[in-house]
Amino acid sequence: MAPLKDTEETLVREEAHRLLTEYMLEHHQRKTPERYAILDAVYSFDGLFDVDQLFQRLEDRFRVSRASIYTTLDLLAQIGLVVRNQMPSKVYYERNIPGQVHFYKACTECGKLERFTNDSLGRLIKEMPVKRFHPSMYSLTISGLCSKCLTNINRRKKRLDKKKKAKPKAVTDKGTAAKEKGKGTPKEKKKTN
Ligand SMILES: [Zn+2]
Repeated sequence: MAPLKDTEETLVREEAHRLLTEYMLEHHQRKTPERYAILDAVYSFDGLFDVDQLFQRLEDRFRVSRASIYTTLDLLAQIGLVVRNQMPSKVYYERNIPGQVHFYKACTECGKLERFTNDSLGRLIKEMPVKRFHPSMYSLTISGLCSKCLTNINRRKKRLDKKKKAKPKAVTDKGTAAKEKGKGTPKEKKKTN
């Protein structure tokens, strides 16, 4: 998805403010400036962020505790203003713009979450009829291995294979040699291939 223009950014933020206000009025909650400050900080990220990054961004402008950040993020996720992604080592967040489809690649090895875009698939997902359900957020996560982890794993495998090959014990012909051991253990025999 292409970055939003300034005017679009303003509209997106205004709409987010409106939805937050609506929710708090409906649920008889106090409209604290703190919540709007957190919402603005959340919407200032064009991409994934974690609580630490959000805390740092808020720190210079607004005094706010980590506890309020967590509760507000939960609230924003409930309203559908933020997408929450729980990974093994941390939680990632991303602002949710109405009609946007979020695509993520989640590495099961290092726990890294990366977003990507696919406009044609995004359109398909949005046009997909969902029976007896009103969608408010679209998010698709593909789990697997990132290229870095895949390279590392392959390297480790190769090293292991080399070690196995280096051991003469591994070059027995389908178990028969193991049975025939009596005189010399395969370890003592020098392999010839
Ligand atoms: Zn990885």
